[in-house]
Amino acid sequence: MSVLASIQSRIRAAAIAAGRPADAVTLVAVSKLQPWDHIAPILAAGQRVFGENRVQEAMGRWRDRRDEIELRLIGPLQSNKAREAVSFFDVIESLDREKLAQVLAGEIQVQGRAPRLFVQVNTGEEPQKAGVIPGQADAFIARCRALDLPMEGLMCIPPAEADPAPHFRLLGQIAARNGLDKLSMGMSDDFETAIACGATSVRVGSALFGART
Ligand SMILES: *Cc1c(COP(=O)(O)O)cnc(C)c1O
Repeated sequence: MSVLASIQSRIRAAAIAAGRPADAVTLVAVSKLQPWDHIAPILAAGQRVFGENRVQEAMGRWRDRRDEIELRLIGPLQSNKAREAVSFFDVIESLDREKLAQVLAGEIQVQGRAPRLFVQVNTGEEPQKAGVIPGQADAFIARCRALDLPMEGLMCIPPAEADPAPHFRLLGQIAARNGLDKLSMGMSDDFETAIACGATSVRVGSALFGART
């Protein structure tokens, strides 16, 4: 079995084990920092949803193939890159502050094009990590809606050394009480746990493409 097929089958098995439909979870292939010869076979095998951390890197890698794929920004977004991000990505998963919400709202107006948006929640309240803290998530989501932003779901990156399950469950609770049904959570080492906790998309990089260079 190819690496892609084996990840897909683990995703389907985890969904079924959780009592969910086999196709309930979208695989986001995280191609950041990967050489093209690692990405090409995955694209050729039919993978169509890719995640990138940086706007410029993503544009360099995907500009000529942009129409073939769905592209998601999963890394921190600076306000001064918002214009390019709105024009280039289908989904932005790293909305995490008022200033960025305002700038995105303005760009969406100007461009007449709107990526679907996820709020990143810093479930572990780690100072070095992006994301709104859980206690401020409800107010921030309401603020994004007041700006007419197309809110789709929530994203988190649990602390590296912790059991991720409580973080995934917390993200699910915040989403449920705010009427958001998409949960971007789970990476190479913990995507099956995330699916058990309700992930609707998982972001898998190294398990698909190999270690990043
Ligand atoms: C790099 C990255 C991933 C993929 O991590 P792997 O452990 O290689 O699967 C997922 N999500 C985010 C936000 C990332 O930056």
